[in-house]
Amino acid sequence: MIKRKQKELFPVKVVSNSEIALGFFSLETERKFDFVPGQVVAVALNNHEEPRLYSIASGNGKEYLRLLFDVNPEGLLTPRMARLSKGDELFMSEPFGRFLGSSDPAWWIATGTGIAPFISMAESGMAINKKLIHGAKTPGEFLFADMFIRKMGDNYLRFATRESGPGIYRGRLTHWLKEATNLPKEIKYFLCGNANMVVEVRDILVRKGVEIDHVIAEIYF
Ligand SMILES: Cc1cc2nc3c(=O)[nH]c(=O)nc-3n(C[C@H](O)[C@H](O)[C@H](O)COP(=O)(O)OP(=O)(O)OC[C@H]3O[C@@H](n4cnc5c(N)ncnc54)[C@H](O)[C@@H]3O)c2cc1C
Repeated sequence: MIKRKQKELFPVKVVSNSEIALGFFSLETERKFDFVPGQVVAVALNNHEEPRLYSIASGNGKEYLRLLFDVNPEGLLTPRMARLSKGDELFMSEPFGRFLGSSDPAWWIATGTGIAPFISMAESGMAINKKLIHGAKTPGEFLFADMFIRKMGDNYLRFATRESGPGIYRGRLTHWLKEATNLPKEIKYFLCGNANMVVEVRDILVRKGVEIDHVIAEIYF
């Protein structure tokens, strides 16, 4: 059996931790490393447990590092991570990964906490020339909506599957994409979230003539 090389984890102090929507947390820690927006870190509460991966959700000009997560009540890490507060310690790897934001024009497509890397990219000045399509269950789950509205205006589209709200489409983002005509072919499409969304969106884009190597995906679970 091939054993994956475990990333080295370093202790970092929690700066703040708050529930920004029901079951969704924004956790800020001290920052020890540089990163490219879109990268992830491995996180654990001690050096013996198998770490989980989290996208960095803060701009690369900030002093702190932000992670966004939703609590999986059956999960090993997230229920305990939700209880951390200022001064507590957790263990974090150096940033890594190939889901890298840039200033080139692109579409960003996310479900749920898959919005995290796009928060990092937008806070790092990469929101110009982008369209962001975010899917969630309810209007309250569009995390950092005010920032995206401010930076992206009409290029920020929200799709809620369970309830509607002002400025929010009711339904699935995949339905909207299926209906869309003339998708730009020369740009990159960044997809982040659960596997079902990523696979379905990739299929839709390819069927509509987007080249497969213009589709860059980060799958969470
Ligand atoms: C590259 C990468 C980046 C990631 N970035 C983030 C991030 O920025 N924010 C974030 O919240 N998560 C992110 N994840 C998911 C994260 O690593 C954990 O899997 C998640 O937080 C659950 O951890 P846990 O220990 O509480 O649950 P575990 O003990 O690991 O239980 C996992 C089980 O719950 C399922 N599961 C995990 N998350 C969810 C969910 N949100 N909804 C429904 N079922 C779920 C899994 O399929 C699995 O069956 C990322 C995953 C990857 C691979």
